[in-house]
Amino acid sequence: AKTLDLERILHKQGFGTRKMCRILIVNEEVTVNGTMCDDPDAKFPLENLHYTVQGEAWEYREHSYLMMHKPAHYECTHKTQFHPTIYTLLPAPLVERDVQCIGRLDEDTTGLILISDDGQFIHKVSSPKHHVPKVYEVTCKHPLDDAHIEALLAGVKLADEDQTIAALEVARITPLVLHMTLAEGKYHQVKRMIAAISNRVEALKRIRIGTIALPADLQPGQWRWLSSEELASLK
Ligand code: URA
Repeated sequence: AKTLDLERILHKQGFGTRKMCRILIVNEEVTVNGTMCDDPDAKFPLENLHYTVQGEAWEYREHSYLMMHKPAHYECTHKTQFHPTIYTLLPAPLVERDVQCIGRLDEDTTGLILISDDGQFIHKVSSPKHHVPKVYEVTCKHPLDDAHIEALLAGVKLADEDQTIAALEVARITPLVLHMTLAEGKYHQVKRMIAAISNRVEALKRIRIGTIALPADLQPGQWRWLSSEELASLK
């Protein structure tokens, strides 16, 4: 099994420069598999490695794959513009690992977003050829009738685009609320499709990506690791 010294392990996991990690270890602020270790050069197998840093529990991960319930008024960007970024909702070591979100949600959109530091994985899952269907709960300004639903399923023409674009599935939940499944992830796609049927999105929430549903117990602003089954379902 692959082993690595503790200083490099912490550095790789996002706890700062090698020197900062060495200081944490020497200051007795790190435990590995339940025992305090103050030797930065001590080697440990990476598999099943549980450690704590300043009392916080972690598990060694080659890459990070997580989901977040994005709250409204956060931006999916690393640079703050008008609102805080969703990355401020993550622990510092994860941000240090250079995690990115997989496809962006608008500032006012809420719901499920996937985040990772695995560049190949991000590229694959966000590529247009990798059709992971995404389900949105769309609250509209004006009531929807059958003709609107049929138009979304048949395909609507977005402003500035030549081709029509269709929803894979549309379910009317109430006269104002739809569950709409999309194969693509075009810029402002839901809002533009709803605009194309002369309506307006009042609230937008992504409730599913592929087979992964937004968990009912994951509150806005909270995140959790993807399970290995969830991860495998995306690959
Ligand atoms: N479609 C939109 O219009 N906005 C989003 O955030 C996601 C899909």
